[in-house]
Amino acid sequence: MSSSRKRSKDTDQKSKKPKVTPTQTLPYYGLHNQGATCYLNCVLQVLSMTTEIHDRLEPRSQIIDQQLKNIFKKLKETPCQTGNLTKSLGIKNVLQQRDAAECLELILNKISPQASEVFQGQLTYTTKCCSGHSINEETNPFWTLPLSLKDAHDKTFSVESGLEKFFHPKSFNGDNMVYCNECEEKTEAESGCEMVAFPQILTLLLKRFDYVNMKHVKTTCSVDVPRALQRKEKRYDLYGMVNHTGSLRGGHYTAILLSNEDHTWYEFDDTRVNKVEEQPFAETGTYNSSDVYLLVYRASGSLRVEGKEPEMDRRRDAINLEESREKKKMKKDAKYKQEVPRFPESRIQEDALVLQQIQNTSNSSRRQADRSAAEEMMEKGCKNKPDENSRPRYKMHPLWILLIVIVVMLVVALIIALAIIYY
Ligand SMILES: [Zn+2]
Repeated sequence: MSSSRKRSKDTDQKSKKPKVTPTQTLPYYGLHNQGATCYLNCVLQVLSMTTEIHDRLEPRSQIIDQQLKNIFKKLKETPCQTGNLTKSLGIKNVLQQRDAAECLELILNKISPQASEVFQGQLTYTTKCCSGHSINEETNPFWTLPLSLKDAHDKTFSVESGLEKFFHPKSFNGDNMVYCNECEEKTEAESGCEMVAFPQILTLLLKRFDYVNMKHVKTTCSVDVPRALQRKEKRYDLYGMVNHTGSLRGGHYTAILLSNEDHTWYEFDDTRVNKVEEQPFAETGTYNSSDVYLLVYRASGSLRVEGKEPEMDRRRDAINLEESREKKKMKKDAKYKQEVPRFPESRIQEDALVLQQIQNTSNSSRRQADRSAAEEMMEKGCKNKPDENSRPRYKMHPLWILLIVIVVMLVVALIIALAIIYY
């Protein structure tokens, strides 16, 4: 499509943005826009405010870690350029707008694992038949949880309800019944999704870019943003929002971030950084936005204080993860082969239409942690028939083997001796 070469408009649409006040002494600086790299600037400001990753970067071995470290350092003193980073990230066309969520994942894919693991959680998808037999179970890592806005229509979307829906079990009955190996027939089933490892930083993606009725659309519904989220015993506090204003083809990204230092919300709009005049949550304890696209939450207690790691949370998560892995391994050893979860390589393709990017975003890219993955696994589970590999194998102790060999040899010797005596 020829329009793919069209320069995407990096228009500022301030109508719905929170009011900001320029102040003289700001603790933060902005980033220069190379053409349409506002998506990158927002992600970098989020990462800059995510101090948990700063000491985990490995500037000696990873070029992107080094560049990020330099940018974070410079941002305390002066506005920054991003030319070297876009080259290292393989972004050739800086005049083409990209998806901020994909950009975040691209960077997380390329930095050292101990830095990116701050953003990484694990989801386990399970499918059980109506008699409680396990049909399928799979654990995958995730960096963002995509929440569908399809049901919101023109109403206000509640992030908390969307999150509940994401984890709500799904039933399979009627024509959708699935084959259970234990029942040896098609049965009703239920699939569920559970977060088995909580990330330190939880990123929610509001799927504003979607494919509805054969058309790519941007949903501009209003979203009720919760200040805090509770998942089981884990509490998450909001500290970052990435906003998208404008249309599918041309838009602009900005970020609103809560300062770790003065606990004030600032808006980052390329080189412009301003204190948000009407501080989110200040008046009513609520915040509502038609532009918010990414929500970034920090696990309570995970922010480093005076150089100390939040060991308790990390240790508890590690124990939880280890326990769930152990349980799963025991089950899978008996029935299913272990699948190693892998992150896909960079999903950002050069010279692709903004539209195609959005399609990727709403389809393949988001499938990683999407509920549709559970359905795929259901299908896989249906096709799983009992076979040689799926049966448990019994290993014999070597001493038993030796004993059997000796007995066999004695019997053979006895037969030979008897044969000699008789003949
Ligand atoms: Zn069954």
